[in-house]
Amino acid sequence: MLRVMNTYDVIVIGGGPAGYNAAIRAGQLGLRVACVEGRPTLGGTCLNVGCMPSKALLHASELYEDAAGPAFAKLGIEVKPMLNLAQMMLQKDDSVAALTRGIEHLFRKHHVEWIRGWAQFETAQRLHVALATGEALSVEGKNIVIATGSEPTPLPGVVIDNRRILDSTGALALAEVPGHLVVIGAGVIGLELGSVWRRLGSRVTVIEFLDRICPALDGEIGKGLQRALARQGMAFRLGTKVMAAEVDSNTVHLSLDAAAGGSPERLSADYVLVAIGRRPYVGNLGLEAAGLAADHRGMLANSGHRSAVPGIWVIGDVTSGPMLAHKAEEEAIACIEVIAGQASAVNYAAIPNVIYTRPEVAWVGKSEEELKAEGRSYKVGKFSFLANARAKINHETEGLVKVLADAESDRILGVHMLGPGVSEQIAECALGIEFSASAEDLALTCHPHPTRSEALRQAAMDVHGWMMQA
Ligand code: FAD
Ligand code: NAD
Repeated sequence: MLRVMNTYDVIVIGGGPAGYNAAIRAGQLGLRVACVEGRPTLGGTCLNVGCMPSKALLHASELYEDAAGPAFAKLGIEVKPMLNLAQMMLQKDDSVAALTRGIEHLFRKHHVEWIRGWAQFETAQRLHVALATGEALSVEGKNIVIATGSEPTPLPGVVIDNRRILDSTGALALAEVPGHLVVIGAGVIGLELGSVWRRLGSRVTVIEFLDRICPALDGEIGKGLQRALARQGMAFRLGTKVMAAEVDSNTVHLSLDAAAGGSPERLSADYVLVAIGRRPYVGNLGLEAAGLAADHRGMLANSGHRSAVPGIWVIGDVTSGPMLAHKAEEEAIACIEVIAGQASAVNYAAIPNVIYTRPEVAWVGKSEEELKAEGRSYKVGKFSFLANARAKINHETEGLVKVLADAESDRILGVHMLGPGVSEQIAECALGIEFSASAEDLALTCHPHPTRSEALRQAAMDVHGWMMQA
């Protein structure tokens, strides 16, 4: 049965960080707004199968490893922990459920109507929604925001079954600790989820096509991260490609080849995680009916969040830029404010990145490699956590902070950190970039003692040669 509803000022397709933030902002600005989401819960990839469950397992596995290994004993805490994986998964699922219910609450608070179903374009302004109830609905929007997110990129020859060959969703919900986990792709997902399972007892081998891990990372920080993870027992096979995978009862047999060519090799594992990137998701959207087309990567291009068709907007993972929840949130706010007639824009130069391994990696702005490629003259200041008092006291001295500043203006161009708790420090640097701060501004700002943030100040001092604590 087809039901027809009223026209909205804004209909958002997708209830992830791009979609739910857009819908909430629209509600705040007094626009009549609906969000169409087909999953049974709001929050998209991030809350359901991405950022939040992975951080829940990273946190729990970090504590388990501390308790099980020499870290606690060194502090004089003698314990013999026992892993209860089912409980670890349960607390993760409980936290996720609370968070997704939180978005429902925010929708009610900000007058956002959640239409539970899958949307498809009928025209550029009208959507057909296949409701979860089995019914169908036709809705019209003066503005339609596409925020349909992304999905894992498949690897030819390695078919994900989420039994033995997993994507990130499968790797977040295993019922046992793998004896040997092979991760394909030394990117963010591979290193974070590889860390979870290594901490819980798996042997972990990471296979990467390129000759370095996390290609977007500043080279020096990337090498430091690889060294740290290798010391923890993670094995890396760089410059290697996986040609095929065969599942034989409970074992996966992989055929490997050197990326540059060579003689094939076999590697067996209990589980394989395929984490070679994500691609925009526009499946079943019926783009043609709206007069839209995705490019060869499935991506919907945008100019100031506008698609090629007036009145249709694109934000988040489904369009260009880093696939990050906070980038999606920024685009959501700017897009809705522009729809509401306000001046609003995203400063892509100030979007921070974090890898939640131990040590953590956090950065914002340009890497040294990017600055060199641009022919920009810059100064570098560095400070090692070895000389940071708080890190020393906590026995967490691995890593460094690196500040890159313009050689003439001293404006901060990039900050790159490898170390304890740096995910919580990088926002200060993003603020600095937003305010066009100089390295001197950072060096002259009082930082509390004893905190790891003092390492950042010392690195900024080092840009001008007056680092005081090393
Ligand atoms: P999504 O979150 O993918 O949401 C899109 C939503 O649209 C989905 O819920 C989908 O069901 C819905 N949808 C799609 N098509 C339709 C349709 N036709 N009708 C109705 N609904 C539809 N980012 C970070 O910043 N920090 C992290 O720590 C982090 N960790 C991650 C860990 C993992 C394992 C993964 C996989 C990702 C992680 N990310 C992280 C990336 C982050 O999850 C994404 O960048 C973010 O979710 C993108 O938001 P989005 O709203 O664009 O898309
Ligand atoms: P990624 O782009 O971070 O890393 C993929 C890695 O796989 C790269 O190093 C790439 O060189 C390698 N690769 C590609 N093809 C390969 C092949 N055939 N064989 C071996 N290696 C291959 O992608 P991801 O780790 O899958 O993450 C997807 C997205 O999710 C990222 O864009 C990231 O922004 C987002 N994410 C973010 C966080 C975070 O912010 N902490 C956490 C998880 C995911």
